[in-house]
Amino acid sequence: MGIAENITKLRKEIPQHVKIIAVTKTMPVEIVTQAYDAGHRVFGENRVQELMQKNQELPADIEWHLIGHLQTNKIKFVVPFVHLIHSVDSLKLLSAINHDASGLNRKIDCLLQMRIAREETKFGLSFEQAEQILCSNEFSDFQHIIITGLMGIATFTDNFRQIRDEFLLLAGHFEEIKAKGFPHDQSFTELSMGMSGDYKIAIEAGSTMIRIGSLIFGERNYHL
Ligand SMILES: *Cc1c(COP(=O)(O)O)cnc(C)c1O
Repeated sequence: MGIAENITKLRKEIPQHVKIIAVTKTMPVEIVTQAYDAGHRVFGENRVQELMQKNQELPADIEWHLIGHLQTNKIKFVVPFVHLIHSVDSLKLLSAINHDASGLNRKIDCLLQMRIAREETKFGLSFEQAEQILCSNEFSDFQHIIITGLMGIATFTDNFRQIRDEFLLLAGHFEEIKAKGFPHDQSFTELSMGMSGDYKIAIEAGSTMIRIGSLIFGERNYHL
């Protein structure tokens, strides 16, 4: 099947309110263009260099999401155009994003990346760390950051129940933070969870954004 068909099929399969972030990492511009020509406008990259390059080469009405780890010294490159940063995992990073965004008079939507996988290697905050950030005085001074929700990556495993438990944990964190930290904040609405292998489980657990690469574009040559 072609890329357009893959997107159409996926779109039909999932609830209307769930947003599809088409993950284009390692895919050349010609391939991404096929998704664009099929009408898709929401794309995600996990590396800043690749994100910048694709933003330059592809049409300006694309909504670009940064889904991978962000280093402080790279923030300035993405802040001018990024639509949503999914992968914020420290107060230091938020502070730097706020600083660069204030220079451009932008407000940047960010998700806090939570550690839900049992694997030690994944980035992300514990619930306590996220709470600490959101309750800090420093955070309350940031005028150029909007925390619109949480993101998480489940363990790479065939164990359906483990994946579901991890997504339910993240959904629980979301509800708790909403109840505690953002009682009146209308913008805290997004739960970015689910990839090609586990998006159905993620949606059942309450995902509002799925990050889909290989199911749309085919297998990548290497796993990032
Ligand atoms: C690569 C990547 C995805 C998409 O992975 P697929 O399994 O190809 O759908 C989603 N989220 C993140 C953070 C990624 O790095």
